[in-house]
Amino acid sequence: MLYAWVGDQKRAPFAKGERTTCPDCGGLLSAVIPVENTPHWRHKAGDCDPWSEPEGPWHLGWKEIL
Ligand SMILES: [Zn+2]
Repeated sequence: MLYAWVGDQKRAPFAKGERTTCPDCGGLLSAVIPVENTPHWRHKAGDCDPWSEPEGPWHLGWKEIL
């Protein structure tokens, strides 16, 4: 997923190694910072979001519009 709550901010990850909690399922999310892609959050185990994986550039762009 692109944005998740980190403290009181809903945002994409800034750096590798960041962790937060999924607002939907309460699962652990870890930062993914691809070299040529948009930084995003990935579920550590089991994804609750049917739209989120795999997240190619096209898909991320589409979610950005929404
Ligand atoms: Zn989740």
